[in-house]
Amino acid sequence: MSLVGARERRVRTGGIELCVAELGDERQPTVVLVHGYPDSKEVWSEVAVRLADRFHVVLYDVRGHGRSTAPRPLRGGFTLEKLTDDFLAVIDAVSPGEPVHLVGHDWGSVQSWEFATVARTEGRIASFTSMSGPSLDHFGHWIKTRVRRPTPRRIGQLLGQGAKSWYVYMLHTPVLPELAWRGPLGKRWPGILQRLEKVPADGYPTASLPSDAAHGAWLYRDNVRSRLGRPREDAYAHAPVQLITPLGDAFLSERLYDELEKWAPNAVRRTLPAKHWIPRTRPDQLAAWIAEFVTANEGRENGVPANGPVATGRYAERFGGQLVLVTGAGSGIGRATAFAFAEAGARVVAVDRDAEAAARTAEMSRLIGAPDAWAETADVSDEQAMEKLAGRVAAEYGVVDVLVNNAGIGLSGSFLDTTAEDWRKVLDVNLWGVIHGCRLFGKQMAERGQGGHIVNIASAAAYMPSKALPAYSTSKAAVLMLSECLRAELAGRDIGVSAICPGIVNTNITSTARFAGVDAAEEQRRQKRSARLYGLRNYPPEKVAEAILRAVVRDEAVVPVTPEARGARLLHRFAPGALRAIARAEPPL
Ligand code: NAP
Repeated sequence: MSLVGARERRVRTGGIELCVAELGDERQPTVVLVHGYPDSKEVWSEVAVRLADRFHVVLYDVRGHGRSTAPRPLRGGFTLEKLTDDFLAVIDAVSPGEPVHLVGHDWGSVQSWEFATVARTEGRIASFTSMSGPSLDHFGHWIKTRVRRPTPRRIGQLLGQGAKSWYVYMLHTPVLPELAWRGPLGKRWPGILQRLEKVPADGYPTASLPSDAAHGAWLYRDNVRSRLGRPREDAYAHAPVQLITPLGDAFLSERLYDELEKWAPNAVRRTLPAKHWIPRTRPDQLAAWIAEFVTANEGRENGVPANGPVATGRYAERFGGQLVLVTGAGSGIGRATAFAFAEAGARVVAVDRDAEAAARTAEMSRLIGAPDAWAETADVSDEQAMEKLAGRVAAEYGVVDVLVNNAGIGLSGSFLDTTAEDWRKVLDVNLWGVIHGCRLFGKQMAERGQGGHIVNIASAAAYMPSKALPAYSTSKAAVLMLSECLRAELAGRDIGVSAICPGIVNTNITSTARFAGVDAAEEQRRQKRSARLYGLRNYPPEKVAEAILRAVVRDEAVVPVTPEARGARLLHRFAPGALRAIARAEPPL
C-alpha cells in the first residue's frame, strides 16, 4: 500500500507545509494525482506504481491531511482559492517549466475542477482526468436548472442526488463529525470500506484517517453551500477533460454530468461497473485510461492530439483500453465480436486454432480502432495449450477484462448414429474449451480482484431439444448451465457471466460441421444444403456481436439472439410440450 521508492519533499505555501511524493523519471510528462475525502495521497498508491514506469508521478497530501500541516484556524482554511494556491505551489516545485496532467478523485476531483477552470492556472494544465467529483459550479447550475424548470424527470434526478448526498448534510453539523471520526467511526471505517466498497484489506486507509476526516470536514463547510448557492458563470475547462464514472457510486449520480459538454465540450467519457473507491479497486483500468489520455494529449497542437484520436465508437465509454480475449476469433461470430470490441477502442487478443485467420482478425482490429491487437494460436480443447496461452497473455498483455469463449464446432446426426469419438470431439471443443477458458482466465480475473466479465457462446440449441442435434445441443446446454453456476459464484467478485444463445446465424459453421452416420459425399451435400439455408436466413454475425457487447454492458445472464432463439426461449418456459413436439420433426437437412 505504501509508496515504495517515492522521493519526498516539503512545499511551503500560505503558512502551511505540504508533503509531496514523486515517483518515476522527472524528464517524462508529469502526472499529478489529487486525493479525496477522507483520504490521503496513499489512496493513489496502486495507480501511481502502475504509471511510474512511463511518467513522472506526483502526489501530495492536501492541507490538513496525511503528513501535510493544517491551517490555523481550520475555518476558512480550506477554500477552493487556497487549495488552488497549494496546487500551484506544488507544480511550481515539481514541474516549473511544463504543464502537468491532472488527475483527481472525489474531493481531489472537485478541487481539480476549480484548478482546470480558473484563469490563473491557464497554460499550467495539459489534461484533466476527473473521477467521482463534480465541479461545485457545474453542480450549482445543474441544481438551478432543475429547480427553475422542473419536469418529473428533473425532480426525480434532484431527489436521487439529494438522497445520495446525506453525508454532506451531516458534515455541515458542528463538532459531531469530528467526534465520530476521532472515535468509533474512525475505528470502523477500514472495515466499512472493505465490506461496502470491496476495498482490499491491504493496510489502506492509513493511520492518519481520523484527523484527515476531521480536518477534511472543512472542505465541505468552507465551499459547498457558498458555491452551490452562487456558482461561477465562467467555469469552462481550459484543458482537455476525461471523465471516469463508476456506475455503482453510492455518493454521486451519473446524471450530474448530463450537461458536462457545456463546460468541457470534447470531454472523453469512460464508465466502469464499480463503486466509489476506484483508485483502490480498479487501479489497472484507471492507470490504462490515464496513460492513454495523457499520451494522447502530450504535444497537443491547436487542440488536436499529436498521438492519434481517442476511440469514440458506440461502446467506447465502457470498453476503451480494456483487454478483451475472443476464442474462435478467426471466423464468424468470433471475428465480428473482435471487430466490435476493436471499434469500441478495446485492446483485442484474437485466438483461433487457425493462426492465419487469427492474424487477419488482429490486423483488421488494429485498422478499425483497437489501440493494440494480437493474434494467438491455440486449440481451446487442449488443456495444456490453454494453460500456456493463459500464462502468455497474462505475462505479455495483462489480465483480461472481458473473456469471450466463442470457439465451437457443429455436429448433426441422430443419437444412434453419433459415435463415441464424435461425442468426444464436440464436447472437447464446445464444453471443455469453455471450461478451460473460464477456469484459467476466470481465475486470473478473480485473483486480480478488479472485476471483469466472461461471455460464453451457447446456442438456442441449449434449451431447444432436437432429434437431429443431440450431441451439439447437449454441449450447449452444459455451457448454459456452467455459465449460470459460474455467474452465481463470481457475483461477489464483480465478475459478470453471460450466456449468449444465438439461433441461426450466417457463418462458416455449416461448411465445417460434421454430419454423423453418413458417408463423405453425403456429408458434403448436407453441408452445402445447410450453408444455403443459413444463407437464406441471412442473420449476420455482427448482430450477435452487438448483443454480446450489450450483454456485458448490462450484465445480462442469458441472451437469446435472433427472433427464433427468443421464440424458442419463450416456448421453453411456457409451453415446453410444444418444443418437444417440434424436436420430433424431421430436420430440413
Ligand atoms: P465459425 O464461423 O465456424 O467460427 C468458429 C471459429 O472457431 C473458427 O475460426 C474455427 O476454426 C474456430 N475453432 C473451432 N474449433 C476450435 C478450437 N478447438 N480451438 C480454437 N478455435 C477453434 O462458427 P460461428 O458460427 O461463428 O460459431 C461461433 C460460436 O457460435 C460457436 O460456439 C457456435 O457453436 C456458436 N453458435 C453458432 C450459431 C450459428 O448459427 N452460426 C448458432 C448458435 C451458436 P476452424 O475454421 O479452423 O474450425
